[in-house]
Amino acid sequence: MELWFSELHTPNVKFSIKVDRQLFSATSEFQRIDIFESKDFGRFLILDGCMMLTEKDEFIYHEMIAHVPMCVNPSIKKILLIGGGDGGSARELLKYSTVERIDLVEIDELVIEACRKFLPQTAACLDDPRVSIKIEDGLKFVRRCVDEYDLIIVDSTDPFGPGEGLFTKEFYGNCFKALRADGIMVNQHENPFYTKDAIAMQRAHKRIVSSFPISRVYQLHIPTYPSGHWLFGFASKEHHPIEGVDFARWKRLGLETRYYNVNLHRGAFALPNYVEALLTAVEPE
Ligand code: SAM
Repeated sequence: MELWFSELHTPNVKFSIKVDRQLFSATSEFQRIDIFESKDFGRFLILDGCMMLTEKDEFIYHEMIAHVPMCVNPSIKKILLIGGGDGGSARELLKYSTVERIDLVEIDELVIEACRKFLPQTAACLDDPRVSIKIEDGLKFVRRCVDEYDLIIVDSTDPFGPGEGLFTKEFYGNCFKALRADGIMVNQHENPFYTKDAIAMQRAHKRIVSSFPISRVYQLHIPTYPSGHWLFGFASKEHHPIEGVDFARWKRLGLETRYYNVNLHRGAFALPNYVEALLTAVEPE
């Protein structure tokens, strides 16, 4: 008998992974949480039927969400990480001795518990003394913050269910307020390939552009995400993601990465024409 996990990327496109066994399944007050084990992708986390991360390819997502801003601004000390209950983003950020504190605001404590038990590859770092975990809605948490953080990373689920509020104009405006004068926000920004996701991407970009003076988008490839072509947003009060960046300084840090490097950093912001067209279509004239 064969067991398969399948996710519909569109009503007519399905992505499937053969499963050896299911390790965890529960429904919290926010979402259904499943963890499976497979030959080709190792263990993987599913929230409300959507792929979040696999042991095999999570390094791509977590390196690119963390090292791009950390290379741009060497003075980042205090970080707000919204979502990210699996610990992968925190693991990459903790590689920097200059990081003094990560406030990890995760709405669902059960995600953290399940990842601590079954996904130590990403969750083990959550015990680092620099990580302060707060079980709360990130949308509400950030309302209380003013001029407090050097970096905000929105490592959220997709714009429905508990993650929906993390794609709103109110939320991005509050992130702007919560950041210090040279603050940076990086956010999970969906994919440009499938129509429904591209519309969500445009909606998020339009709202971010109206909140931040510098707003760019960069790309990465994640085999297990819809279309495999994924985007992150880079928004800032004063730092450009490439111009004026001391890439040689970052290389001197000697950090070990499997995906991120400074050439890829520069290249990731060079987007395909159809993606540029989608973005400029929602930017002010
Ligand atoms: N880091 C993973 C990856 O590699 O793609 C996926 C992101 S992580 C699992 C998404 C997290 O965002 C989930 O744990 C979810 O519970 C959390 N989340 C969703 N909405 C939230 C909200 N409004 N506030 C805080 N956390 C939220």
